[in-house]
Amino acid sequence: MELRFQCSRCPAGILVDPLETGEETIACPNCKAEVSLAIGPDIRAGGPVEACCVCGSHEMYRRKDFPQRLGVLLVAAAAIASLTFYYFGMVIAAWAVLAASVVADLGLYYVLPRVTGCYKCGAIYRRAAPNPRHGEFDLAIADKYK
Ligand SMILES: [Zn+2]
Ligand SMILES: [Zn+2]
Repeated sequence: MELRFQCSRCPAGILVDPLETGEETIACPNCKAEVSLAIGPDIRAGGPVEACCVCGSHEMYRRKDFPQRLGVLLVAAAAIASLTFYYFGMVIAAWAVLAASVVADLGLYYVLPRVTGCYKCGAIYRRAAPNPRHGEFDLAIADKYK
């Protein structure tokens, strides 16, 4: 499992594999602050993440491991290419580009792994067992912690 979170004392991002190191306290590589992680026995046994190891919050979500900005960029690029083809009278090509972008989008959706995230502190868990109780990312819940 890979855990990425932000140091509570400084803006540094910390990346650890708590299962590999077995450590419950991680020293921030930037400010050397000790951050204690609550890694329960269920997580050690490969079970799903119930509560955030960093802040203890139970409000967590699952989402695709895909940078949102890249997705927006891909859609924008497809739209521009499509409009360009359309402008030059290549209607079939214009539709083909749009269709290809939709297929690529769907393909990525199924191929990409899921990550578990914490609403409260923003910690991201990769390669953790999925927890069926965690829903898709919900902006309404995320707003509560802003
Ligand atoms: Zn720090
Ligand atoms: Zn958290």
